[in-house]
Amino acid sequence: MEGTFTRKGSDRSIERAAIIGTGILGASVGWNLTRRGVQVVFVDAGQPGEGVTNWSFSWVNASNKTVRRSYFDLNVAGMAEYRDVAGTIGPDSWWHPTGHLRWAGDSAAEADLLETAALLVDWDYRVEMRTGAEVRRRFEAGLTVPDNAPVVFYPDEAWVHGRRLVARLVGDAVAAGAEQRFGAAVREIGAGGSGGGGQDGQGGRSGWSGWTVGLSDGTALDVDAVVNAAGPAAADIAALVGRKLPMRYEPGAVTRLSCAGSPLPIHRAMHVPHIELRPDGDNSIVLHSREIDALIDTGKDPADLGQLLHDLARAAVPTLTNCRITETRISNRPIPADGFPSVGTVPSTPGYYEAVTHSGITLGPILGRLLASEIVDGAGADLLSDFRPERFG
Ligand SMILES: Cc1cc2nc3c(=O)[nH]c(=O)nc-3n(C[C@H](O)[C@H](O)[C@H](O)COP(=O)(O)OP(=O)(O)OC[C@H]3O[C@@H](n4cnc5c(N)ncnc54)[C@H](O)[C@@H]3O)c2cc1C
Repeated sequence: MEGTFTRKGSDRSIERAAIIGTGILGASVGWNLTRRGVQVVFVDAGQPGEGVTNWSFSWVNASNKTVRRSYFDLNVAGMAEYRDVAGTIGPDSWWHPTGHLRWAGDSAAEADLLETAALLVDWDYRVEMRTGAEVRRRFEAGLTVPDNAPVVFYPDEAWVHGRRLVARLVGDAVAAGAEQRFGAAVREIGAGGSGGGGQDGQGGRSGWSGWTVGLSDGTALDVDAVVNAAGPAAADIAALVGRKLPMRYEPGAVTRLSCAGSPLPIHRAMHVPHIELRPDGDNSIVLHSREIDALIDTGKDPADLGQLLHDLARAAVPTLTNCRITETRISNRPIPADGFPSVGTVPSTPGYYEAVTHSGITLGPILGRLLASEIVDGAGADLLSDFRPERFG
């Protein structure tokens, strides 16, 4: 049983909520709220799932989250939540629980990798040690990993097709009565409006009078609550309710390859020296590298960054020469200033909630469920106590 703490603020009930931003965070919050009986309006300036969620490495993991124990625990809960969601809606073509391979290219990086693996074992995380030769024999025949290299395999990790998952969650919620307003950006959030209900039972409003959300198409939504799930634009949405949400600037470049006409040369997500690779469904491969991200602000064209990524990938998987680049996109990671999620209500602004985080692929479903519970029940989960919005002013 998850612990909870009581949210300060009004006891006003929430019958209608606008979800601002329909990436993995907004889709997960909205899907869970719909299941809890709230009338949800999904809003997005573009189309659902086509923001950072579609340009992510999309690796579901906690092995890369050892910086703080509470953050690691939240990510482990995120992994478990995926298994539950896949059990509830079916895995379709979005869920790929194929584990994760990782090996290092030099002795210092290898020492770090093995130290982290030992820590993870201490924290009861499943870790399997393999050699390069074993990995080629049992998992991925096409890799150039040296025979004796120690390779860490995390069997419980996965990758997710974020855009398809968002489509499933939004589709299910809409089938259950949720509304959708796509291609319309939120421009204004004002106090008041008739709201969807939420009377305090004595003929008046208790605490706040709901919100009127103005959209770029000239229409407005009257709601009891707004959820800021605008990803990299979250600070702009926060500013509309008078809140300063400090965010980092940390862009990342992702390239998609098409391998149509040749067999897909890899079958799971992996970190190999200098680059990360994973399948992306439909004969595609996704590439990302922190080393290439470091070149984004040097003025290089995204197409050049894509070419560099392809070169690094071919060193690890030579048959990727047969695949061609379809697109390279640069996105800013939605990271609150201290690097951790900002999730929950802001006591000074009742009816306003944040769902803003990096590692949002791993964390979207768990944060969506916990935030929906907080919105409906008025109590936040203990698992989120280190990640409350009020730590930012
Ligand atoms: C290179 C890279 C690699 C990553 N790798 C991983 C990984 O391996 N594992 C992992 O867990 N996470 C990873 N992440 C992070 C993860 O992708 C994000 O945390 C997650 O996708 C954020 O989802 P979101 O729903 O918050 O944002 P988004 O998907 O960007 O959705 C926000 C939505 O808000 C909409 N919006 C913005 N402004 C407005 C407005 N004014 N009105 C209406 N709508 C608006 C946008 O159109 C967008 O659709 C990575 C990120 C990057 C950039």
